[in-house]
Amino acid sequence: ALIVFEGGDGAGKSTQVAALTRALRESGATVTCTREPGGTPLAESVRSLVLDPAHAPVDAETEALLFASARADHVARLIRPALQRGEVVVCDRFVDSSVAYQGAGRGLGVERVLQLNEWALRGLVPDLTVVLDVDQDTAEARRGLRGLAADRMESEARAFHDAVNATFRRLAERAPERYLVLDAAQPPERIAELVLDRVRGVVPV
Ligand code: C5P
Repeated sequence: ALIVFEGGDGAGKSTQVAALTRALRESGATVTCTREPGGTPLAESVRSLVLDPAHAPVDAETEALLFASARADHVARLIRPALQRGEVVVCDRFVDSSVAYQGAGRGLGVERVLQLNEWALRGLVPDLTVVLDVDQDTAEARRGLRGLAADRMESEARAFHDAVNATFRRLAERAPERYLVLDAAQPPERIAELVLDRVRGVVPV
């Protein structure tokens, strides 16, 4: 099964990815824990390139293409083989991040970015996508706590973050059977509980 966490910067994704991975492993599941952009050596190199301030500002189309090519490698070389071995794959960000950031945030269009990613996904659809829906104040507080002042997105407008978050919610509304949308302002332990409850319906643990 493929379980994905999505959400804006500062939503608490990495905390929840770690918590779910730990809980699943404790129940005896074999878990591949990974992230995007990145996840394989090639895709991590692409991530470094795109996020390297030396290349800023990266043109939106270029960014979407590079992230999609990184995803193609990640899916072909890490995610699909792990799923074929019967493992649970827990991934921090996936295609919905491209749709939200490049499609909505950077204005390329939701449908165009979905279409672009068909090459990378070749039919792969997550079994469950958890959207951590974060309000601006919580996100800013968490980013501040993590000391991410230099984060690329830090300087960008609230409107960008609003577009990103609204897009995650809209994608969830399109296919509610394979999404779980949670208010990211709740205590992390509570979020982890709600996630695990839902994951038990997807993974037999
Ligand atoms: O989630 P993570 O912190 O690893 O993301 C790294 C940076 O890349 C963040 O600033 C995030 O907003 C950005 N990003 C992006 N487009 C994506 C995925 C991530 O701009 N498709």
